[in-house]
Amino acid sequence: MQIASIHTHLLSQPLDQPFDSATMSFTIRQHLLVEIRCDNGLIGWGECLGHAGINQAIVNAMAPTLVGKNPLDIELHWLALYNQFRDQGQRGATINAISGLDVALWDIAGHFHQQPISQLMGGAYRTHVQAYATGGFRAVGKDRLTSLSDEVQGFMNAGFKAMKIKVGFGLEDDLRDIAAVRDIIGPGTRLMIDANHGYDTLAATELGKRAAHYDIDWFEEPVTPEALNSYKTLRTAQPIPVAAGETWHTRWGIAAALQNECVDIIQPDICGVGGLSEMRKILTLCDIYGTRCVPHVWGTGVALAAGLQLHAILPPSPPSFGSDAALLEFDQTPNPFRLGILTTPIDHKNGIVDIPQGPGLGIDVDRDALAHFTLPA
Ligand code: CA
Repeated sequence: MQIASIHTHLLSQPLDQPFDSATMSFTIRQHLLVEIRCDNGLIGWGECLGHAGINQAIVNAMAPTLVGKNPLDIELHWLALYNQFRDQGQRGATINAISGLDVALWDIAGHFHQQPISQLMGGAYRTHVQAYATGGFRAVGKDRLTSLSDEVQGFMNAGFKAMKIKVGFGLEDDLRDIAAVRDIIGPGTRLMIDANHGYDTLAATELGKRAAHYDIDWFEEPVTPEALNSYKTLRTAQPIPVAAGETWHTRWGIAAALQNECVDIIQPDICGVGGLSEMRKILTLCDIYGTRCVPHVWGTGVALAAGLQLHAILPPSPPSFGSDAALLEFDQTPNPFRLGILTTPIDHKNGIVDIPQGPGLGIDVDRDALAHFTLPA
């Protein structure tokens, strides 16, 4: 079996309702899918986190390194690509591109062996996972408190038992929003906040101190991810557990954060950190450093499926009877690619998501839907 060709699909859809995090504006959804075809007809799908156009260019540049090779030599290909492209960047777009290719290779391996990826990686601890709703961005042009309250009520109506809202829009506004959300969801629903590094250490410390009594599970990306010392400071300067990781890439980037005691919860993204191969190494790091892993998931149904295979193999934390900290990030913002490009969409029921049991990622991509959303190359 040989890799015959590698194709990219740049999915694009303008948003009816633009929204903001603390640091980014979203007016359009764009994601890059990677499709690897083999000479025997097997196909694998992957996805890259981040700017779809840049990812597309790098995946295309990497393709000749893989064409003609055995797709089952996944570790060899990871190292070959990293060596070949190291000088183009050891984090960011280069690693996003490797990530998408790596996920597609694992999908092929699953189809070749007729097993889900979780089985190839050592076996699944679970067949379903609790999901938390990600949302609460600032809707452009709408009253913040009203739109946030409506959105959170929608999560409750859908049966979610955990959710994450955006902060980083100013201390007093954030505290008002957190208080309102806790009032709506009551004491029995888990609540997390995500500042998308919209604060500095002093402001994040103050927010953490004043928000803690609203029972916040974690404070995500309080400050700029490059400032590892600030993360370490924040863990002791304020009482809410600190989480981050979606912008730290590869085993080396994650190891630096763990060695510096930056976070209580690490959040690597499969499609950005280096793929499933790299995630497996990172799980070992998490074990060594005693840090809980709650992966970041953001993208199409392909990224979601990859996230679910990883959640299947996340060891229980702590490794004791009845313990299970696995928690799937389930983006609830408008995104036609999350459900619309799979023949059998992955969705939750009362906040629980079943992990696909089919070969590879356990999904089939709907070619008609894909064509509808794909920009011409
Ligand atoms: Ca985040």
